[in-house]
Amino acid sequence: MKERLEKLQHDALAALRDAADEKALQDARVRFLGKKGELTEVMKGMRDLAPEDRPVVGGLVNTVKEQFEALFTERHEILHQQAINQRLEQERVDVTLPGRKGFAGHKHPVTLVTEEIVALFSRLGFVVEEGPEIEQDFYNFEALNIPKDHPARDMQDTFYISDDLVLRTHTSPVQIRTMLRHQPPVRVIAPGTVYRRDSDLTHSPMFHQIEGFLVDKNITFGDLKGILTHFLKEYFGEDLGVRFRPSFFPFTEPSAEVDIACVICSGKGCRVCKGTGWLEILGSGMIDPEVFRAVDYDSTAYSGFAFGMGLERIAMLKYGVNDLRLFFENDLRFLRQF
Ligand SMILES: [Zn+2]
Repeated sequence: MKERLEKLQHDALAALRDAADEKALQDARVRFLGKKGELTEVMKGMRDLAPEDRPVVGGLVNTVKEQFEALFTERHEILHQQAINQRLEQERVDVTLPGRKGFAGHKHPVTLVTEEIVALFSRLGFVVEEGPEIEQDFYNFEALNIPKDHPARDMQDTFYISDDLVLRTHTSPVQIRTMLRHQPPVRVIAPGTVYRRDSDLTHSPMFHQIEGFLVDKNITFGDLKGILTHFLKEYFGEDLGVRFRPSFFPFTEPSAEVDIACVICSGKGCRVCKGTGWLEILGSGMIDPEVFRAVDYDSTAYSGFAFGMGLERIAMLKYGVNDLRLFFENDLRFLRQF
């Protein structure tokens, strides 16, 4: 019995010393002093001993128990402190670390250009109008003096939803919608998404245009020239060369293409301007009386002009981008540069 107790004493104290954490320590306590613990079993067996042996064994058991409790308390104190230190170490806050920045996005270059041009025309009294991207044949073609058999339809071959519904090929239908709702004077700037069956370095099936038009009494080609020249010089620089070339659009008469001196070579001639020194920048003209007839405006009392341009083209020239498709590939390495 004495030997059994000595072994128990040795095992119990060793278990406490070996316990690596508070949980192992508690396990050791259960193992020796729990309801069915090894030391508990010895105490239970005391009643089977001869009465004269009981005091000796009882004394030994108490000694083991006291040593166990004392060591348990000591080890518990140490392991508990260790656990706290470990947590402090792991959760330490390094106050010298730089703060984390929130990454805010920014506007797409085409949006930036759109907003700049809208702001510029707003200062001239133009108001923003918008129209649907799925448009009726009437607004996209018919009312703009492009009847069913007109060759201009081929130049703008588009995506048909049905015989009567198309993805709009230009922002010009906004002219018709606005003029049907408002009597002159009107002064409108209309940015928006348009669609055509084109795809190459300078064309995308989906792109953006901005359309402007003004109708009032006594509006002449001189007003058109004045406003567009003012806009181009404000936008690209006061010294910019601007020229108007005769052209044709079904919905304006007379019509003019507007060129600016090449912003890459300053008019000397380069690859971008194909050696001419000029860049085509927008189409314009005096609104055709046929268009006024479609919207019930009196063309003997009123006159007006309209113009339109591709926003990607403006953005390409402004930022020196050589492939229009880059705007729509959503490559952040490209978009972060603006
Ligand atoms: Zn050039």
